[in-house]
Amino acid sequence: MSSHRFSPSQNTHGLIPSLSHGNYPSTWHQSFSNTHISYGNSSIMTTNSSYSHLRSPINSEDSSREDIGIGRRHVYYHQPIARPHERFLNRTMDNCPEHLTSKQRSRWLKAGRNAQLNHRIVSTIEPFQSTEANYNSLTYIHGKTSENHLVGLISKMANVRLYMIDTESDRPTGNNPHTKPALLQIQAIHYETCSTVLLIEIQHLPHYSTSLFGLIQQMCSNIFSPDNKIIAWGDPIKELYSFEQFRLFDISRITKTLNLQDFFNTMWNSAHPHIQACLNRHHVMEDDCSSDEVLICLINSDDIDDDLKPQDSKADFNQCICPDEIRPYKTNNALWSLQKAIQMIFNKALDKALTMNLWSCGLDPHLNTWRTIDDKQTRHALTTYAVNDVFAPTDLYFYLMNTDISSLDTNHIINLNMIYEQPIQNLPKYFVLSDSHGKYFPPYHRTAQYQLVIKSISGLQWNNPWQQELSVNNLIESTSIKSIISTCAGIIFMVGTNSIRSW
Ligand SMILES: [Zn+2]
Repeated sequence: MSSHRFSPSQNTHGLIPSLSHGNYPSTWHQSFSNTHISYGNSSIMTTNSSYSHLRSPINSEDSSREDIGIGRRHVYYHQPIARPHERFLNRTMDNCPEHLTSKQRSRWLKAGRNAQLNHRIVSTIEPFQSTEANYNSLTYIHGKTSENHLVGLISKMANVRLYMIDTESDRPTGNNPHTKPALLQIQAIHYETCSTVLLIEIQHLPHYSTSLFGLIQQMCSNIFSPDNKIIAWGDPIKELYSFEQFRLFDISRITKTLNLQDFFNTMWNSAHPHIQACLNRHHVMEDDCSSDEVLICLINSDDIDDDLKPQDSKADFNQCICPDEIRPYKTNNALWSLQKAIQMIFNKALDKALTMNLWSCGLDPHLNTWRTIDDKQTRHALTTYAVNDVFAPTDLYFYLMNTDISSLDTNHIINLNMIYEQPIQNLPKYFVLSDSHGKYFPPYHRTAQYQLVIKSISGLQWNNPWQQELSVNNLIESTSIKSIISTCAGIIFMVGTNSIRSW
């Protein structure tokens, strides 16, 4: 199989020779699959499978269709769905289609229950939102990202050792039985309230041979290195596994990981032991289960092995009768959903309505894959979702880090300080307030003699009475900047450096 990878969207940024009237290379159509070509009134849908070797092994479903007429070229992309949950909200036993098999029926109803639960949470609890002040930049990474920007980002993240990651994929469809990796979200955590967020649009990357791809690869290789801690809600390696084929990183170099979902579960269960009545009942049931008679009766139960194993009394188990506020999960080896954890800890609603969507659609409006304003808004909503899916676990991570876990009776305590470099209290700290010239400085930098906290604001001026958020005069009086200044030995301003240069 050829190593060449073809992504339909790459047509838009110059990887396929651009076509003009009367100048079609005789083999050009081999670069496209499912290409719709119009010549006057006739049209041909090319479906020749002989060039399928040009495509990624799992990228066998196009998210785009190219319509090429004489002298013009339009690309039609499939669009994401604005409200994918809507059609599930009215599902009940009563309106379940009768032709479904029992398995299909339970799946049909489960999708309805999940959507209804999400709807209930979102309509009754305040939404979870990542604070914009907590991240100073969001960058989409794809074939149109500028090389200079990437070089700046690599330098800015050079001393970051802690990363939260998540991924999104398109679900299998009738035409494509595999999931299609679409998005890799990376939150580079400079310190608790300062992050840089990257959204890598996997299906819109430049070709491997380009210098731009080389820079993206270098950035990812720096991130997924043995020096850094990679955290995810779930196993980070499993999360990344299907993305390794895109040559951005070598998964074997990732040696420090934290499965925050497991860790949260352990911490929660240690802090919320089963009530005595539940434990008493559980012990009685365990005793009952040891009789041969019961064993024969229960032999087909999936849970029989788990029920009979000597158990950690703090673990979740079937038939738990504790109140939901103490034990929301009541099955063996239950996995906490991120939404439930955010609800229980922060009483906020993490909206999961957009989970199943066309994540490969090209989220960045600059990719020009959108058609209507609604399509553009849906991309904005998907971006917010993708960003929240790294910020939410990061908030939980810092919540656990700031909790006095020594009071919890657990054998699974991880020394959290080992994986996060915190500002040191007795080392002189200086605050740098800069205009855009400081945008690629690491927001936190430490040497043996001092530490720097750097905040860069594009368009910052000494005094701007019309835009107070860009005015140094106003900013140094603001609560957020004042609180930083109060912990610092001095301030360095880098403002108006363009005007200095012009002198
Ligand atoms: Zn219980």
